[in-house]
Amino acid sequence: MVEDKTTNISISHIRINLLREFQAPPVAPPKVTGIEDVIDLLEKIGIPHDKKQIYRAYQFAKEKHKKQTRKDGTPYITHPLNVSYIVASMKLDTTSIVSALLHDVVEDTEATLDEIERLFGSEVALIVDGVSKIGRHSSKYTYKDAIQAENFRKLLLSTAKDIRVILIKLADRLHNMTTLGWLPREKQIRKARETLDIYAPIAHRLGISHLWGDLSDLSFYFLKPEKCFDLRVQLYFYLRERAELLDEILEALNKLLANYDVTINYRVKRLWSIYKKMEQKKISNINNLYDYVAFRVLTNTKEEAYAILGLVHGKWQHVPGTIKDYIGTPKENLYQSLHTTILYKGKPYEIQIRTYEMDKIAEEGIAAHWAYKEKGSKIKAIDKDVMKLRSRWNSWISSFLDLKDELTDPKEFFNLLKIDLYTDQVYVLSPKGEVFAFPVGATPIDFAYRIHTEVGNHCSGARVNNVLVPLNYKLKTGDTVEILTSQKASPKRHWLNLVVTSKAKSKIKQWLLREEKEKAKAIGKHLLEKELENYNLSLENIKSDERFPEYLKSKGLSTLEDLFVHIGFGKISTQSIIKHFHKEEKKLSKILQKAWGIVEKSFKKSNQIILVDEETNFLTYFAKCCAPIPGDKIIGYITRGRGISIHRIECKNIRNNLFPSEKFIKVYWNQEYNKKSLFPVKLHLELIDKRGIIASVTSILDKHHINIGKLNADAMRKNVPPGRGYAEIVIFVKNTQQLTDVIKNIKKVKGVIKVKRLSGS
Ligand code: MN
Repeated sequence: MVEDKTTNISISHIRINLLREFQAPPVAPPKVTGIEDVIDLLEKIGIPHDKKQIYRAYQFAKEKHKKQTRKDGTPYITHPLNVSYIVASMKLDTTSIVSALLHDVVEDTEATLDEIERLFGSEVALIVDGVSKIGRHSSKYTYKDAIQAENFRKLLLSTAKDIRVILIKLADRLHNMTTLGWLPREKQIRKARETLDIYAPIAHRLGISHLWGDLSDLSFYFLKPEKCFDLRVQLYFYLRERAELLDEILEALNKLLANYDVTINYRVKRLWSIYKKMEQKKISNINNLYDYVAFRVLTNTKEEAYAILGLVHGKWQHVPGTIKDYIGTPKENLYQSLHTTILYKGKPYEIQIRTYEMDKIAEEGIAAHWAYKEKGSKIKAIDKDVMKLRSRWNSWISSFLDLKDELTDPKEFFNLLKIDLYTDQVYVLSPKGEVFAFPVGATPIDFAYRIHTEVGNHCSGARVNNVLVPLNYKLKTGDTVEILTSQKASPKRHWLNLVVTSKAKSKIKQWLLREEKEKAKAIGKHLLEKELENYNLSLENIKSDERFPEYLKSKGLSTLEDLFVHIGFGKISTQSIIKHFHKEEKKLSKILQKAWGIVEKSFKKSNQIILVDEETNFLTYFAKCCAPIPGDKIIGYITRGRGISIHRIECKNIRNNLFPSEKFIKVYWNQEYNKKSLFPVKLHLELIDKRGIIASVTSILDKHHINIGKLNADAMRKNVPPGRGYAEIVIFVKNTQQLTDVIKNIKKVKGVIKVKRLSGS
């Protein structure tokens, strides 16, 4: 049997103790027996408090909960008592401790909010209300997801009014997580998942790293019990083996920094973050992981921190790429520190260097200082950081709730909350100095829609820090954003690729849909009128037809306008309408069938490659007169009854103003079109009349894998100067790019004088 050197107890015996220790949750609840423990703690850490008020709240809660017990059999009051202890250890004020003691009385007993307000004041009542769930009966919903979403919304709303709401909720959750073992397995998993998805990220965002760590580790323990156990055992032995070495490094650091007033220690990283790192790097043995432990050097000033980094680098070699300056660029939750990884006896170790104040923010975040307790006192750097964190948090909440107001699906609300909590944020300012939070990657368009839907819909440009920027500019923290608007500006389809917030996305989609419908309506009306004309009918005939209401109903439509829209989108053919209403349809149908067939065919062929004002679904076809190919500058013309014909803007018919201008419509090549269609182009060649020249030209085409549709070299002998010839070739190309390439290469053929694209095909 292997003997343990230090204790002489057999390893197997240690293992039994370890087994017990590592089978328990990694974070134990505070051992609180009575309210005196809370008061003692407050006294110990020197927090001014109102003892009488705390006692009163305790007595009230104890009385109200007296008939209830926890799942572990203890009186219910142990829960609020423990929560108040956690709140006290976070150094919060009396109002917070009182609220923590009372946090469950409204939800779980017959006590009312009015009673709380009367006895303990409106601040406490607001906080207690904030942490209380919506009563099952007062909820609009009956199913679990919806109620959960509704509760989160309420929690966030109250948090915006008083940040203490979320701090108490986190303490509440922490205590519940430490005692989760008493609940059924299924409930453990649900609570742990929710904690990991929502509460731990909230703690992280607020910068309260100890809460984040405790909540994450407890979730890990309940979600993946075996993995958690395994990791704890591995860590235990690993640290024991290295204890001496770690102390050696500590000593070396102390010696190196003897001239500085520093505090140096090291700590093992949190189980959850070690586990995540191992998963990420796909390693199962902790021996292969180096950043499981971090040395921490605390000093007085920023300048000293940088100087210490220099000294450390002078003494030990560092691993390239591991220096991180979070002092120059603080993390989103205002974490500030210098990180480096040095090599000691060939093994890497992380060293974090920061000031005492930075460390306080890194550990306690938003709870680092209860700013409004000392209103008159001088504002210190730490207060500024805390205030900054608060305003970031509030602007995140308001932005989140703002866009989630429109979400009716609770599942989507919950999912977006999860995503929002995990995505990093940028904080930008309006010209008036208001702070707005956005997910990373947001653009001025997101900003415009945040201000107001109308601002978004008429956004024509943006200035960031007084400089004009393109609309795809990615906002950065600290940017001051000013939106330029114009009545003429309107949302474009490609904006959908530029925005990241759901509000902007849904508003742009709404607008585009409305526009698309308007256009479809006009086109549909026109097509139907034209078709009716062919039968000597009018819209009036149809509208007054007794079969009309029944017809609409059968198509699932309610108005004539709806019918126009459907015709415009090509969902209902005008011919089918004629068939329905015209008695002599049979006689005419053959002729019509033929005419319609053409439209139908061209519709199918082109409907996806051409966008009408950036929309799809319109009937379009390519005009024969100028035969456009992808890449050409094009314009649409609303024809009578055949949809929209697509012309090149160079087209003679367009140039000569043969068409009334109000019938023109903007069209685009669909950039997302992915079919490999080929388009005919007619080329005119001027050549030196010599043998084999046509063969040289066709061999070039062959090299380009271009098919020839028609080749006409007869012209070579008619009306041409001696020694010259002409040829006309119809070739099939993908787009203008390919056409330009092939023309360039034909021109290189010896004897080719000129190559010209003709307008038709
Ligand atoms: Mn509770």
